[in-house]
Amino acid sequence: MKKNNLLIFSLSIILFGCATLKQNNTRKQIDINALVDLVNVNDDKVKVVIDPPKISDNEINFYIPQIVPGTYEYSNFGRFIENIKAFDYKGNELPINQEDDNTWSITEAKKLDKIIYLTNDTFDGPDGKAIYPMGGTNYKKDVTFLLNLHSMIGYFEDMKEKSYRLSIRSPKNLEPFTSLSVISKSDTLDIFSAKRYFHIIDNPILYSEPNAVSFDLDDIKVGLAIYSPTGIHKAEDYQDAIEKMMIAQKKFLGDANNTTSYDILLHLMGMEDLQYFGGMMGALEHHTSTTVVFVDQMQAEELTQSLVDVVSHEFFHTLTPLNIHSEEIHNFEYNTPLMSKHLWMYEGTTEYFANLFQINQGLIDEQNFYNRILEKLNYSKRYDDKMSFTEMSSKIVDEPYQTNYGNVYQKGALINMCLDIIIRENSNGEKGILSVMQDLAKKYGKEKPFKDNLLIDEIISMTYPEVADFFKNHVEGKVPINYMEYLNKVGLTMGETEVPLPSILFKDNQNPFFEPQPDQDGKVRYVVTGLNDTIESMGVEIGDVFLGLDGKMLPEIKKENAEQINAVFTPSFMWDDKKEFTLTIQRNMEKQTLIGITGKPNAKVSGVVEDRDADEKTLALRTAWLKN
Ligand SMILES: [Zn+2]
Repeated sequence: MKKNNLLIFSLSIILFGCATLKQNNTRKQIDINALVDLVNVNDDKVKVVIDPPKISDNEINFYIPQIVPGTYEYSNFGRFIENIKAFDYKGNELPINQEDDNTWSITEAKKLDKIIYLTNDTFDGPDGKAIYPMGGTNYKKDVTFLLNLHSMIGYFEDMKEKSYRLSIRSPKNLEPFTSLSVISKSDTLDIFSAKRYFHIIDNPILYSEPNAVSFDLDDIKVGLAIYSPTGIHKAEDYQDAIEKMMIAQKKFLGDANNTTSYDILLHLMGMEDLQYFGGMMGALEHHTSTTVVFVDQMQAEELTQSLVDVVSHEFFHTLTPLNIHSEEIHNFEYNTPLMSKHLWMYEGTTEYFANLFQINQGLIDEQNFYNRILEKLNYSKRYDDKMSFTEMSSKIVDEPYQTNYGNVYQKGALINMCLDIIIRENSNGEKGILSVMQDLAKKYGKEKPFKDNLLIDEIISMTYPEVADFFKNHVEGKVPINYMEYLNKVGLTMGETEVPLPSILFKDNQNPFFEPQPDQDGKVRYVVTGLNDTIESMGVEIGDVFLGLDGKMLPEIKKENAEQINAVFTPSFMWDDKKEFTLTIQRNMEKQTLIGITGKPNAKVSGVVEDRDADEKTLALRTAWLKN
């Protein structure tokens, strides 16, 4: 059992080359017709037809992406395609050869009318678990379809800039939810348009029975649609929290925000799906929408806070990379990618802001914010602290860099915290990393990429020599950061504090309340070795043997049963503080079932706290940092 089984990995689609966000291209001639059939789904496969314009070359390649922006790993989506066939205008088959996982060559291309193939989804099958669920596809005939089109629709060589008309045949009971531009909609056929291939993959579509809300926040139109397998989660129940969050984000960003519409596609999966993906869930960012995948068993309060943390992160991507990105991202290559050096910004700044805006706008209190810093300090220790962040970023698809990717959300955010504090200190509290980003967004914006090698020098020229030293040593260089040096500047220090436990299974913020120990016969059992307030009040005692949780009994404790053991523990991470649950224990050969309510068990830890002896100047800097 590990909490990182449930770590929420927020991914971002790095943005690039969007000609414009508004997709009113109805008058423009359509170049490529794509047809997707969600009605005649056989054997969990969806048929796709791609009909390109007349081709003038003798031979042409057809591609499915090897990698898509925001995932930072090779996905090889071509492996989800099968039975691909090419046809001429008379309906005769043409030769088509698979060149690699993601490439097919068509000879006699001048005669090519269309290609037809079947697509597998990524929510089952041997290869699907390798794909983040939020970047994946889920086909559940007549029930729901989560369509991340990069594993379904491909592009022809030199035709990435051509426009697409996407026609989707759909079951009558399911409605589409997407930020893709709509040409027409009916019960059984929905037609969308995309100015270029990028818009096909930047606008996922969720088909489900109607469960959506839409509302206006000043000049931004927000939509939320939910697929919930049990139907328990209703979109209207989450509207208030999303509204409050996005108003706070807009206030925080000021005029750096110019998004006009934003859609949230929330696909809730069952526990078996969560097990299949090894606990992975989270969100993938796009220009005007985000796909979020969580678990249906999460309780309302837990789901709300997760949505706030994850969707706010995704929405902040509208600042970077949408309005601040390098040429590598602007001209992203799906099959021969070049990576940018600036994940410290695309993911790090974004994740830092997703936490900072919550204290800045009063959604959380100071200690909650410090505890989040502490969590990032602790998690960042799991990664190589002596790896250059810019080098890691530019080589992220390869090892050993790929294994360290998760650090962009931990150390990446802390890098920005340190930069923020340095800039605040040097500007008498007036400026911070947000003002730097606002200025960069004004200078660059959606259409104008920066040169990857020049960004850091540019930021240095906008700020202070201390910023130059920090980048040189701790972002480009390999020197670990002494975080206390920066926290002390704003009157923070290490001291005893209370943090909420990850779940009632814990006795402190790292360790469960039980340990595997062999009995006289050598059989391993989970013996209670520590307590938290909740289980103590239920009557659990040190030395009890832990047998089951909330009616689910643990199997024999051995490695082979890891998945079943996990399945017993995992739900407890999704409980809010009002959940009634049972613990089954054995004491003196007697089996007992104890009943309790989760509550909010805390643990005393050494953490980030306010320094009572901080002087006035330091306190003023802290206020500027958190509240300006
Ligand atoms: Zn992200």
